[in-house]
Amino acid sequence: MGQASKNSRTASATQRFMCSCGGEVKMKTLFESGKVKNMAECDKCKRTERRPSDFR
Ligand SMILES: [Zn+2]
Repeated sequence: MGQASKNSRTASATQRFMCSCGGEVKMKTLFESGKVKNMAECDKCKRTERRPSDFR
């Protein structure tokens, strides 16, 4: 009765963000001096920001 299939939908590892230019922002993982850095890069204009939310 009212079964909710929680397992049918797994949490997506990659969130999608849109750049102000209309391109898709993709997350990149960089390794810099032994540290892992996450960068967000627009696929279209190659703009990079530290956080995907900075593209708004
Ligand atoms: Zn862009």
